[in-house]
Amino acid sequence: MTGMSTAWHLSRQGVRVLVLDSVGVGSGMTAIQPGGVRTQWANPDTFTLATEAQDFYENFVERTGASKDPELVHCGYAFVASKPETLEALRATVDSQRAQGVDAKMLTPEELGEMIPGLAVDQILGGSFNGSDGYLNSPGAPVAGFADGAVRAGAEVLIAAVERIERVSDEWKLHLASGETVSVPKVVIAAGVKSATLLATLGVDIPLTAEPRHIFYSNPIGDRLIEPLVVFTDEHFAVKHLADGSVLASDLSPLDEGADTTEAAMRVKVAAKGSRLVETLSFVRFPVMVTGTYDVTPDQQLLLGAIGGLPGLVLACGMNGRGMMLAPAVGRVVAEAVINGDNSTVPVSMRPDRFADGAAGIREQMVI
Ligand SMILES: Cc1cc2nc3c(=O)[nH]c(=O)nc-3n(C[C@H](O)[C@H](O)[C@H](O)COP(=O)(O)OP(=O)(O)OC[C@H]3O[C@@H](n4cnc5c(N)ncnc54)[C@H](O)[C@@H]3O)c2cc1C
Repeated sequence: MTGMSTAWHLSRQGVRVLVLDSVGVGSGMTAIQPGGVRTQWANPDTFTLATEAQDFYENFVERTGASKDPELVHCGYAFVASKPETLEALRATVDSQRAQGVDAKMLTPEELGEMIPGLAVDQILGGSFNGSDGYLNSPGAPVAGFADGAVRAGAEVLIAAVERIERVSDEWKLHLASGETVSVPKVVIAAGVKSATLLATLGVDIPLTAEPRHIFYSNPIGDRLIEPLVVFTDEHFAVKHLADGSVLASDLSPLDEGADTTEAAMRVKVAAKGSRLVETLSFVRFPVMVTGTYDVTPDQQLLLGAIGGLPGLVLACGMNGRGMMLAPAVGRVVAEAVINGDNSTVPVSMRPDRFADGAAGIREQMVI
C-alpha cells in the first residue's frame, strides 16, 4: 500500500515509475489489515498526516478515479483507560487534538457505558472518544485504486522479488530473484518489515523489527453489539463489530516468557478478556484467526525519506501498524522526497537519520 500510494503520487507528476513486488499488488500486511482509520495519535506529526489521509479517503474516488470506494465509516474510536496515568495520557492527546480543531472529548465510565452496552464500567476510569475516527468498509479498495491510477498515469508494475541492491556509478542496480537486473537513478524501499533486509544488502542497518499481531473474527452476528471501535489501552485489547456482522477482537498484549502461543490458547485468552471487559462478548465465538507483523521502530514512529550518503534512495517503512490509514499522505511525503532529492518536507520525527542525529522526538504512545 505504501509503495502503491507513492507510485500514484509520483506517476501523476510525470515521474516514470516501475513498481516491483515479489507477490503482487496489495499483498504483505496490506492484505490482512482490517482498515482502521483514526486521527487520535499522540505525536502531532502523525496526527497531521492522519488528518490529511482521512480527508483523502473521504474523497478517494474523486481524487484517484478509482472504480471502488473504500467507504470510510465514521463509527468513532473510544480509547478506554483503567490506570490513572493512561487516563492522563489520553487527556493530553484530546487536548492537543482539540487545539487543532478536532472534536475529540473525554468520557466518564458512565458515558462510555451508555455508548458500549455491557461494558464493565467498574473496571475502567474513563476514556477518550473521537466520533470522526472509523474504518474502511472495503479495506482492499485503496491499494487497487492507487494501482489503477498509477498504471493509467504510465507506471509499470512487475511481479519480481528484489534480492539485493547495489550502487553502481550513479545508479541503483536491483538484482532480481530471476537473475535479471534493473538499474534506476532513484529507488524507494517500501517493503514493510522486509525493508531492513533489503537495506542490509547495502550494508545499511535500520532500527526496524517485526512484531507479531493476531486478529480474531467471529461469524456474522445479526444483532449489533458495539458501534464504535473500542481500544482498552491498558488491557491491550481492541474490539469492533464490522459492517458484515462479524466481530473483530485482538489481544495485543506482549507475550510472557514461555506463554502458550498456540492458536487455541490465544483464542481462549481473547474470548476471556473480551467477556470480562464487555459482557455481551461472552456470547461470541472467534473461529477465525489472522496473523501478521507490525514493522516497528524504537520510537514507534515512521521511517520516511532519504538516508544520508545514499543519494536517490528513499525509505518508506516503519508504519508500526498504521500504514493503511496514513498511506495517502505518506505517499505524498515520500514522492516529494524523491522529487526534491532531500528531506525538507519530511517531518523531522519521521526522518530515518533522526536516531543518529539525536532528533528522535515524541514516542508515539497510541500504537495498539
Ligand atoms: C494484524 C494487523 C492489523 C493492522 N491493522 C491496521 C489498521 O487497522 N489500520 C492501518 O492503518 N494499518 C493497520 N495495519 C498495518 C498495515 O497493514 C500496514 O502498515 C499497511 O498495510 C502498509 O503496509 P506497507 O505497504 O508498508 O507494507 P506491506 O503491505 O507489508 O507491503 C510490503 C510489500 O513489499 C513486498 N516485498 C517485500 N519484500 C520484497 C522484495 N524483496 N522484493 C519485492 N517486493 C517485496 C511484499 O510482497 C509486499 O507487497 C495492521 C497490520 C497488522 C499486521
